[in-house]
Amino acid sequence: MLSREDLKEIAKMQAGDAFFVSLYLNVNPMTNVKNNYVIHVKNMLKSTLERLDKIVLKKVNNDFEKIESYIVANKRAFKKGLAILSSSEKNFWREFQLSVPVKNEIIVDRAPYIKPLLDILDNYRRYAILLVGRESARLFIIHLGEIEEYTEVHTEDVPGKHKKGGWFSLSEKSYERHIDYHVGLHLKDVVKQLEAFLSREYVGRLIIGGSEETIKKVKAMLPQTVADKIIGTFQAEMFAKSNEILEKARPVLQAFEKKKQAETVDDLLTRAMKNENAVIGIEDVLNALQEGRIMKLIFLKDFRQSGISCKNCGYLTIQEISACPYCKGTMQKANYVIELTAQKAVEQGAIVEIIPENKKLQESGSIGAFLRF
Ligand SMILES: [Zn+2]
Repeated sequence: MLSREDLKEIAKMQAGDAFFVSLYLNVNPMTNVKNNYVIHVKNMLKSTLERLDKIVLKKVNNDFEKIESYIVANKRAFKKGLAILSSSEKNFWREFQLSVPVKNEIIVDRAPYIKPLLDILDNYRRYAILLVGRESARLFIIHLGEIEEYTEVHTEDVPGKHKKGGWFSLSEKSYERHIDYHVGLHLKDVVKQLEAFLSREYVGRLIIGGSEETIKKVKAMLPQTVADKIIGTFQAEMFAKSNEILEKARPVLQAFEKKKQAETVDDLLTRAMKNENAVIGIEDVLNALQEGRIMKLIFLKDFRQSGISCKNCGYLTIQEISACPYCKGTMQKANYVIELTAQKAVEQGAIVEIIPENKKLQESGSIGAFLRF
């Protein structure tokens, strides 16, 4: 999974005369009939090689071969986007399987090109999860529907309840105080680490899991800036597996996402109605796409539309026309107009937001876009 810290490390890699090859590839099976991105990437690599200076070429030839054989060997395993950063000279290789579309590009430079990855971190909401217990805590991030555990916090010397009534003659009451004191120290430590984690990763939303009692305790200790980020809580055991945590947090996540999506749709519809750089409905969206105006494309997850596209320039339409109005090229059937629209929008630098369900959007044509101008 992508993390800002990871990308920061990668960004630091630039050094000396080494060259890096950064490849971003649209591997969405819906817009790539018969895995035609394999042919596509071969052409991209070839035309890049032709442009390169001989000295640089010698340095990255190995990377190009490695990338090509990796894509050929793994083609069935891909999601929507693929990013590969490689430098044979530096003995460096990273791959990112992305569930969002990316713009096709190859960059050969003295540093790995990570801007598209940073954009994904910025443009798709991320959530931090703190699972907190009396003597340990775990931190997770949820991004693009996946969960990853980042770190564990253990605080030494939190006495367990089982020692209660031991040989050392603390009265029950003072023993409880003794435990509370240690749990308090532990939670203080957790809060400190949580704060650092949130600011390091720029995560703006937090969900807390644990027992009711511990959640209450830790919430009371959070500084306001962190408390403001809480969007909900859930009950879970400390030893739960990542996927169980994701399941437990899901109701909180879904409620929050739904609210945010409703706000986005309301904004879209209001602006479209006032003609303020927004459009709704597939025809207006396709027109805006053709003009390169889309800033953010929004559509319902289950929205399907077929149409036709120009064999020559890729112009997309749902109207029955026999020749492309832009280049007179021949038109061919396009089954996945929405997926193609999303890909083209991404290639123009737009963000894509897919909404699982929203009645208002459905009643307004299931698709819309915020425009740049
Ligand atoms: Zn055309």
